[in-house]
Amino acid sequence: MTVAARAGATLTINLDAVAANYRKLRAMLGPGAICAAVVKANAYGLGAAPVGLKLEAEGCRHFFVATVDEGLALRHTFEDAAPSAVSEIFVLSGPSDASVDYFAHGWLTPVLNSTEQIAIWQRFARETGRPLAAALHVDTGMSRLGLTPADFTKLAETPTALDGISPRLVMSHLACADEPDHPLNRQQLTDFQALAAYFPGVARSLANSAGTVLGSAFHFEMARPGIALYGPDPLTKRTRKFSEVIVIKSKILQVREIDLPQTVGYGATPGAGGPTRVATVPVGYADGYPRGLSNSGFAIVDGVRVPVVGRVSMDLITLDVSPLPASRCPPGAEVTLLGDGVNIDDLADAAGTISYEILTHLGQRYHRTYIGAVDPRPRGPGPR
Ligand SMILES: *Cc1c(COP(=O)(O)O)cnc(C)c1O
Repeated sequence: MTVAARAGATLTINLDAVAANYRKLRAMLGPGAICAAVVKANAYGLGAAPVGLKLEAEGCRHFFVATVDEGLALRHTFEDAAPSAVSEIFVLSGPSDASVDYFAHGWLTPVLNSTEQIAIWQRFARETGRPLAAALHVDTGMSRLGLTPADFTKLAETPTALDGISPRLVMSHLACADEPDHPLNRQQLTDFQALAAYFPGVARSLANSAGTVLGSAFHFEMARPGIALYGPDPLTKRTRKFSEVIVIKSKILQVREIDLPQTVGYGATPGAGGPTRVATVPVGYADGYPRGLSNSGFAIVDGVRVPVVGRVSMDLITLDVSPLPASRCPPGAEVTLLGDGVNIDDLADAAGTISYEILTHLGQRYHRTYIGAVDPRPRGPGPR
């Protein structure tokens, strides 16, 4: 029996769809603008190595990760590439005293988010004896990471403040880009333009996926989409612009015919009006199936949309398959839990969460299959 057949559920990741989404995003940009890719958190749960190699084969040369370890892993994935294809990997969380050596080791470019991080990177540049590349992050409305506009301005107006640093990119992050009409978008755009003007000739980047969809005013010299590469809609108003990337399928483990007023699952949730037939499926919150889908999720069995009934437990969910005759939902029948008619944004809404969380929580027990994977190239004289 194959591993796939034994597995309680399978997760299929379509890298050709990731590539198509990348091309779609890149086509939205003007001819001069670079389309980078955000592959933090293991490419939103889908696998930074296979996703990174696929995007690199698609011509992507600029990647963003969150942590230095993610950066090192990605560099390790790319280091077999021909030297001409070496990509720039930006680390969003920036350097610390403990991590600077690893930046050098992995040819990683830090995003400098504070005057403290600038000082750390300058000290390291002095020790290294040459100017070091970095991105400068100015906060225009997130109040999360980045230099305050005041600190950024001071820095820009002090000739020696960036000694040892060669700025590769000036960036900021949009707070409300998923709502195109939100007034903060225009405000952040105006503020960013004014602040970036302190560094003429340095590439500018403001747009995440939603910002990329918002239009050319937000694109500057580089866009940094993440979520749209992986299929979900970046805007709260859904347009279904991007190709679906993941599909999760499982099989019915057991079917129970219920005599009312029996209850279902932990907490003894009463069946509203009473399901008469309940199918148990071997996927639960340990697999990342959100517990928030208790009594609110849905799946597809034999082409019919059926609701989750009762609470999601660690390893199991229960579906109300009463609309189907028993012959169409026997043990072993296929269940579609995500994708292929179960839209990830709709499911996230039902769970009271966002697509990002569903993706990054995908569990380790699925049998994972990649469609369209790119083989790593044979070992060449890469950077390390
Ligand atoms: C995560 C992240 C992105 C990508 O955002 P998406 O909404 O997934 O496109 C871009 N920029 C920064 C700074 C981020 O943290």
